[in-house]
Amino acid sequence: MTLNVARREEVLETLRQHAKRITAPKRAVVEVLVTTDDHLTADEVTHLVQLVRPDVSPSTVYRILEELEDLALVVHSHTGHAAAVYHLAGRSHGHVTCEVCHVTFEVPADVFDLMARELDTTLGFELDRHHVALSGVCAQCRGLALESRSTTPN
Ligand SMILES: [Zn+2]
Ligand SMILES: [Zn+2]
Ligand SMILES: [Zn+2]
Repeated sequence: MTLNVARREEVLETLRQHAKRITAPKRAVVEVLVTTDDHLTADEVTHLVQLVRPDVSPSTVYRILEELEDLALVVHSHTGHAAAVYHLAGRSHGHVTCEVCHVTFEVPADVFDLMARELDTTLGFELDRHHVALSGVCAQCRGLALESRSTTPN
């Protein structure tokens, strides 16, 4: 809990440093983002914000997410056909998403090290591990029982 408070204050402090107004809706959006490790669509963020502030509109939430993203406080990612998902910046990871059940898994960024090096060497291409998820079929949808592998659904 105290960690969330610290993260929230960090985000609000950065907003202040950039002379951005800290409105009640903005505070509510930041609150939602610091209290979850999930990847949330703008609609999901709106829904959670509206639990405490029913007056905040989806377009307001969208604008706030864009502002936070402009300041590199939030990143978004595309996971399959669904809407983009958002979370606080600073966690280094890539995504894989299941084409069947549409669950997205976070994978450690270094999983992509070999591919990133190869793309850099052969194409001079700089891989972005986070922005767009790789697609495939998850263990559950393949009917595999993998208790030892830890994953973070969505
Ligand atoms: Zn994008
Ligand atoms: Zn699946
Ligand atoms: Zn992510």
